[in-house]
Amino acid sequence: MLQKPKLNFLYIYLTDACNLKCTHCWQSAPLAGRGKYSMLEFEQCRCFIDDAKEMGLTGVTFSGGEPLLDNDFHKFADYLTQKGIHMNLETNGLLLSKPAILDTIKRNMVYCAISLDGVTPETHNKHRGVKTAYERTVNNLKLMDEINLYYQIITAVSKFNYHELIPLLDWVKKELKHCNTVKINIVSTLGRAEKMNQKGLLFKPHELPQITEDIAPIIDKYPFEISLHIDPVFFSFKNLMRGFSCGGHCGYRSSLSILANGKISICSLGKEVPAYVFGHVSDIDVKNLWETNPLLNTIHGDTHLTLKGVCSQCIFRSRCLGGCRAEALFHTGDFFAANPVCQEYYDSGLFPKSRLIHADN
Ligand code: SF4
Ligand code: SF4
Repeated sequence: MLQKPKLNFLYIYLTDACNLKCTHCWQSAPLAGRGKYSMLEFEQCRCFIDDAKEMGLTGVTFSGGEPLLDNDFHKFADYLTQKGIHMNLETNGLLLSKPAILDTIKRNMVYCAISLDGVTPETHNKHRGVKTAYERTVNNLKLMDEINLYYQIITAVSKFNYHELIPLLDWVKKELKHCNTVKINIVSTLGRAEKMNQKGLLFKPHELPQITEDIAPIIDKYPFEISLHIDPVFFSFKNLMRGFSCGGHCGYRSSLSILANGKISICSLGKEVPAYVFGHVSDIDVKNLWETNPLLNTIHGDTHLTLKGVCSQCIFRSRCLGGCRAEALFHTGDFFAANPVCQEYYDSGLFPKSRLIHADN
């Protein structure tokens, strides 16, 4: 039996609105200034953060929507620094040139993960849904270089922009000094990406091994880490041994999320499934929730033994924990359902028998 984990990580979704309209947005984020959306207020979260710190909290990731649209970003960041909690920020990079935002990032040593989906304005802007996005993001990446803080680039890859992936890695190597990781995410059928799927623009499971084969031989060419978020079954054993950072879970056994509307869940997609919403940040007893909630207790137990479908038979299950559980939750309403991509691979007969616990099944 695995030991119950500590609550050591929080995802804080500062807003569910965005200033971009990405064709692949997993959150289907509405445009800021239009329609209905939420902004999280710092004061609502202060006590929750205090309690979580006492329980072992060491790190926070700010996400969205576009988290820098929230005017309370600096209050969260300054308070978390006071508490000795390190911070990551997932941003599309458009607002990094605002002096107050850049100061907050510098002052609090926030590690930024900035989205860039291509090396040409046409490709990036089409993926990101706004005509001036490329120019602003690239200018702001150069600004990040000037302040001497390391950062990550996240690139979302579909069939639409795959041809620019290696040119993008080359461009980063040539143009940027302080990017220390490029994280490659394969666009999956969540949120607005469903439309891309209908147009045949998303990779199918049987195409994923080729991507790992394309990238593996070149990782040593670059001075930054390349993290390829594809579940481990799609890698050859040889490539897994190369020290490749690959897909898998987000640390969900030891984390909670504060959603933009103040609700507490496991992950942002909890908002789609009411059973995975545990209460409001301003009045929830987080210690009691962590220790007594039956669903969390199941997740905190031998999680790999509760996974269903192909994940229950996969040799990677105790390391990978079924990959992104949001995908399972979104497609089935069941947190423990098989990873939909791996299940499709298995159902098509392509899942290698050598990756199954009972190879003769
Ligand atoms: S993917 Fe990110 S940057 Fe793009 S619309 Fe969604 S929240 Fe905004
Ligand atoms: S089948 Fe499940 S456990 Fe195995 S690699 Fe895929 S997501 Fe991970």
